[in-house]
Amino acid sequence: MNKSMVAKHAIWTKEEDIIFNLSERAQVDENIFGKENVINSTIGVLIDDEGKLVALESVYDEYKNLDNTLIASYAQIAGQKDYIEAVKKACFKNHMPKGHIKVVASPGGTGSIKLAIFNYTNENEKILVPNWHWGPYKIISEEINRELINYDLFNEKGNFNFDSFKDQFLNISYNQERVFTIFNTPAHNPTGYTIDDEEWDKILDLCKKVALEDKKKIILFIDIAYIDFSGEDGKDTRKFFEKFSDLPENILIIIGFSMSKGYTAYGMRSGACICVSSDEEIADEFYYSCSHSARANWSNCNRGAMELLTSIINDKEKLKKYEDEKNKYKNLLKERAKVFVDKAKEINLDILPYRDGFFISIPCENSMKVCEKAIESKLYTIPLKMGIRFAICAVSKEKCEKAPKIIKEAIDFVSKK
Ligand code: PLP
Repeated sequence: MNKSMVAKHAIWTKEEDIIFNLSERAQVDENIFGKENVINSTIGVLIDDEGKLVALESVYDEYKNLDNTLIASYAQIAGQKDYIEAVKKACFKNHMPKGHIKVVASPGGTGSIKLAIFNYTNENEKILVPNWHWGPYKIISEEINRELINYDLFNEKGNFNFDSFKDQFLNISYNQERVFTIFNTPAHNPTGYTIDDEEWDKILDLCKKVALEDKKKIILFIDIAYIDFSGEDGKDTRKFFEKFSDLPENILIIIGFSMSKGYTAYGMRSGACICVSSDEEIADEFYYSCSHSARANWSNCNRGAMELLTSIINDKEKLKKYEDEKNKYKNLLKERAKVFVDKAKEINLDILPYRDGFFISIPCENSMKVCEKAIESKLYTIPLKMGIRFAICAVSKEKCEKAPKIIKEAIDFVSKK
């Protein structure tokens, strides 16, 4: 007799989360050998040069000032009205697209991905993502019987592989009424890639062509989890949002907003799903469908986090304090990335094109073996299908300089075996 008690659809292979698993192993080593002797580049959170989790003071001082009753209260299902407005401001800044914009609160960016996939794809449909992508897209899709299809993220020049994207986009559009595709930009996890304005133009031109066939429904989900750590100082990486103005009504933009990285609020589980449509009815439909899902899954989201964002975004002084503090870490990330990239170049370690953000990826075969080999030198990274991910967000500049050599030696060792 089959002993399993869970329903058939809930049976999955027994897998521990590899990131949390390796991170735990690294912590054990840190306790034994000292933090200074271990390079723990496993987890996607900001760690300062002393090895301490960064919790922005401008965020947590404000949180502790909130009235207890505001933290304790329930929130509205779609989020408090002022939170919804704050999310729009935090997301778009000066680059609000023209159109009908609706927001539904979600538990983190993850919740927004679930809302979008569940409500905008049918069972057994295919979802288009690049071959390098954040693992949970697959977990979220598979759990509700959706399948991921890949295109190659990079061409031989290390730019967005538009041809590969186009091929797969058209393939799906021949076979399905709807095309749902996820872009994780700016500052893609795991490669640090950011789609530039010209690349966006090509993508949107293709979408518009396919949308001419009026039965087609095109949904672009833009996962902006790392947006606040992208771009050079003073330069904005939000201009692309304006390109979402006045799109045909059968192209829907959904943006996944998250407070996790931008506000170092990982555990607060606060985010939102934002839709941009040229059609009011379609935007309203988004609001009601996503609110229904929210009610059916988690009811309402973290009220304290909503009040926190609202109070920072609507106060010039608090906002400046937050921006200044966050930018300090954005610059730190840039410095760490530069050291890593320069060193990789110097020793001929092939890395994927990095532009912004928390991670750098190194293509290789047998990634698990490479990781294990590097662990012998007390360097912990994350194995991916086609390479390994190094989290510069979690490692000091000094360690970022040491890491490429260890990784190169591990790759060379494994490839010779
Ligand atoms: N998208 C990407 C690419 C991520 O890496 C993450 C977190 O690691 C998220 C979305 C969602 O994060 P959260 O649910 O914590 O907001």
